[in-house]
Amino acid sequence: MKIAQHQVVSIDYELKNDNGDVLDTSAGQQPLTYLHGTGGLIPGLEKALEGKAAEDALEVSIPPEEGYGEFNENLVQKVNMSAFEGAEKVEPGMQFQAQGNNGEVQRIMVVEVEGEDVTIDANHPLAGQTLHFSVQVRDVREATDEEKEHGHAH
Ligand code: ZN
Repeated sequence: MKIAQHQVVSIDYELKNDNGDVLDTSAGQQPLTYLHGTGGLIPGLEKALEGKAAEDALEVSIPPEEGYGEFNENLVQKVNMSAFEGAEKVEPGMQFQAQGNNGEVQRIMVVEVEGEDVTIDANHPLAGQTLHFSVQVRDVREATDEEKEHGHAH
C-alpha cells in the first residue's frame, strides 16, 4: 500500500540540522504515527513520503519554507516583565506559552532579560533551519472512519 491521503502511516525518523547534530529521533520510542494529508507533519516531509510504502527508506532535506517557516525578526520583541505575572522567575532560555493575536497558543522563548525589559522570541525553535530527515516507513494502513472524522491517527 502506498502512502496517500487519509492513510495512517508509521515512521521511524532521525532529524539533523546543517551541522549534523541530531535534533530529534524516534529511536528508543514508538514509531511516529500520523494521518497523512491532514497537516500532521511539516509539508515537506508529507510531500516526500507521498507514494512511499512500508519498508521504504528515504533521506530528505527540507528547506525552511516547507518546514517550520523562515525566521521572522518581527516575532522577536521586547515586553515588560509584568507580562510574566505569576512566573516564579524569568531567565534566558525559558519557554512560556502565550496567547497569540488570534487566540492561538504560542510558544515563546525568553532570549534576554535586562531589568524590566524581557526580549522574547515567538519563532518556532526550528524556524529558518533546513531539516535533514532520515526516514524509515514502518507501516501504512487505511484510516478508520473515526480517524478520518477526527483528523488524526488513533
Ligand atoms: Zn480521535
